[in-house]
Amino acid sequence: AVPLVVSVSTSISAKKGILIRNREAFERAKDVQVVVFDKTGTLTEGKFEVTDIIALDELGEEEILKYAATLESQSNHPIAQGIVEKAEELGFGTYEVSESKVLPGKGVQGVINGKEVLVVSPGFLKEKGLWGEDERVNKVLEQGKTVVFLVLDGKLVGAIALADKIRPESREAVEKLHEMGIKAYMLTGDNAKVAKWVAEELRLDGFFAEVLPHQKSEKVKELQEQGYTVAMVGDGINDAPALIQADVGIAIGAGTDVAIESADIILVKNDPRDVITGIHLAKATYRKMV
Ligand code: ADP
Ligand code: MG
Repeated sequence: AVPLVVSVSTSISAKKGILIRNREAFERAKDVQVVVFDKTGTLTEGKFEVTDIIALDELGEEEILKYAATLESQSNHPIAQGIVEKAEELGFGTYEVSESKVLPGKGVQGVINGKEVLVVSPGFLKEKGLWGEDERVNKVLEQGKTVVFLVLDGKLVGAIALADKIRPESREAVEKLHEMGIKAYMLTGDNAKVAKWVAEELRLDGFFAEVLPHQKSEKVKELQEQGYTVAMVGDGINDAPALIQADVGIAIGAGTDVAIESADIILVKNDPRDVITGIHLAKATYRKMV
């Protein structure tokens, strides 16, 4: 039978917008020492807006956006949505995609007008040896923006910079965790400069950047091996293995189904401050029982 305190507390938490899917994990929440947050869509709003288009070859800005938006129409990543929206806003048409494939944590690949097209991360570019220093690109990176690159037939032709916003609630969430003696870390597939910028803004205790989807759970495991009880908070498909690995997996309610199904606790109000509410509830519930 479910102890009375636990069931009462479960209904209290549900009223506060915190759904408990796994009671054992909820109990572990009282001992959490490190909270690892995903960046995009968790600490930030996950709504990207195109701010700069940088031509790196002969192709003009309009064509760069048109190729990128055509390919991104095949993806539902928040970066893809930002690029598609910008092209629509400017009234640019799109081409036709004859083939396409999503590269998780890296970008999208496809064929447009008979050309092999890629819209990818800085990490992917480096991996393929296509990375070249460019002053304008460095400048947008320094501004803490997310940058993706357009490659046509193996040639780097342009960069697109996008800005996302830190959720105002994230700052308070980190402050409250610190008051409780809990460390706050961030995990992201985005570039190291954006990650550093967000980490400084929020005074995080540490971050891991340019982490590929399959590496996210390894980072959680590393923290556990250091002896920490770890909670992971995320929203994306990419976060699912890390949510499972963590002692307490917490999903943002507006997140993907896969993240929600992999989590122990769901934050219905999409508010990172509810992580603290959840920890307090777990402490209150399990203190009464002993
Ligand atoms: P996060 O951990 O921040 O949620 P992801 O793992 O989803 O990020 O993506 C990591 C990086 O891969 C992005 O910052 C971007 O550079 C690249 N990327 C992922 N999906 C796309 C896409 N559809 N178009 C372009 N780049 C993408
Ligand atoms: Mg995310």
